[in-house]
Amino acid sequence: MATRERAVARALAAFDDGGFHDRLAALVAIPSTSQDPDHQADVRRYLENGIRPWLEQMGFTVTIHPNPEQGFGPILTAERMEGPSRPTILTYGHGDTVRGLENQWRPDLNPWRLHQDGNRWYGRGTADNKGQHALNLTALDSVLTERGGRLGFNLKLVLETCEERGSIGLREFVAANRDQLAADVLIGSDGPRVAPMVPTIATGTRGTFHFDLAVDLRPGGVHSGHWGGLAVDPAVILAHAIGTIIDRSGRMLVRDWLPRNGLTPQMRKVLDGCPVEGGDGAPQIDPGWGEPGLTPAEKIYGWASFIVLAMVSGQPENPVNAVAPNARAHCQIRYTVDSDPAGFAPALRLHLDAAGFGVVRIENAAIRMPASRTDPAHPWVRFVAASMQTSLGRPVQVIPNSSGGLPGDVFADHLGTPLVWIPHSYNGCKQHGPDEHLLIAPAREGMAAMAGLWWDLGEGETPPLIAHRAAE
Ligand SMILES: [Zn+2]
Repeated sequence: MATRERAVARALAAFDDGGFHDRLAALVAIPSTSQDPDHQADVRRYLENGIRPWLEQMGFTVTIHPNPEQGFGPILTAERMEGPSRPTILTYGHGDTVRGLENQWRPDLNPWRLHQDGNRWYGRGTADNKGQHALNLTALDSVLTERGGRLGFNLKLVLETCEERGSIGLREFVAANRDQLAADVLIGSDGPRVAPMVPTIATGTRGTFHFDLAVDLRPGGVHSGHWGGLAVDPAVILAHAIGTIIDRSGRMLVRDWLPRNGLTPQMRKVLDGCPVEGGDGAPQIDPGWGEPGLTPAEKIYGWASFIVLAMVSGQPENPVNAVAPNARAHCQIRYTVDSDPAGFAPALRLHLDAAGFGVVRIENAAIRMPASRTDPAHPWVRFVAASMQTSLGRPVQVIPNSSGGLPGDVFADHLGTPLVWIPHSYNGCKQHGPDEHLLIAPAREGMAAMAGLWWDLGEGETPPLIAHRAAE
């Protein structure tokens, strides 16, 4: 007889016998970066050859749509429907990766070749995001086999190929296809757990807001001997202006950027006892950096952060004896739904003017990825947490949002789905840099958790169903 235990065991067998490894190796071998126009064909090949046949074999109807925005990668949708009275789950992933950065990897590694070293699988996309959606689909495949070719629920999939360029076109696509994509809940996997061996659910993501600070004082550099000491140095002005935005210990001084009601009792409770660990080889947490009095978890899951992503004056690689004409910094705010991004630029303008930095311009200020959050106590979150706990035999850490970004807001806004992210990676995975890898032990746990969850979704005891009725 088909059972939950046997479904989980089947998924773990696919992990342990190398089946998942080989699948991931084939996906990693397709260099589907969306950040290099030379790889456009590979991005399409990822969907067409890497994913489509697998989905069709599992009984999905698959369509590959052009991106609504000219020049951006296609979007794959798939659905596998078993009946209007069943829950409809929407899952999401992205088939594109950041650049390979081939020359920067350890000499024995190649971004497009899966390579095991100790407890890690190295390769571009192993963590972000091929390893994560492939893991979920492998677990699904096992449950489907165990249940004799049925799931007991409806499943829809959106796999985009533009996430690493800011999910261009996704919002328009989902808005235009809201009836076809209607679902009761979004369950997807991306990003890190709070610590490598702590099963995690994130019910949203932080948003990103970018802007430039620019100081332009004169048309060209002037002789540092004749003018240094007489002519204002834009680099110094910019450095001091930044010093009014954040102090030398990382405390943000533009207080209007922070959560409107501070850290609420509800957030404190959700994050109480939540660890933050990067695992072996990860950068260490600097305890004296950031908002005083907050725990590391409160700092990155319940608060806003300000980061100078890049900063330049003159030509550092080829300095000349001149007072530079200008200085520029590209800055980022990571914020939760508790902050108001519409007020970020006006608040900064007032702040800089009040501090005497009217000469510092704010340019290109915009949200790149909005913040999102489902109530961590939502019935769907509880359902998934209980299922994972049954499979893994220990509690699950729920966080109100991941510290990073994901386009969950698109699905929450246009489909009204609660967001349940189940990350399988960890903070030290080096996604976006050289030597990206997936830790094998958390991934194996993820396989068990997902098989148990896919099983439970078909058991008929989910939270009340709402969203997909309109589409039936
Ligand atoms: Zn990424």
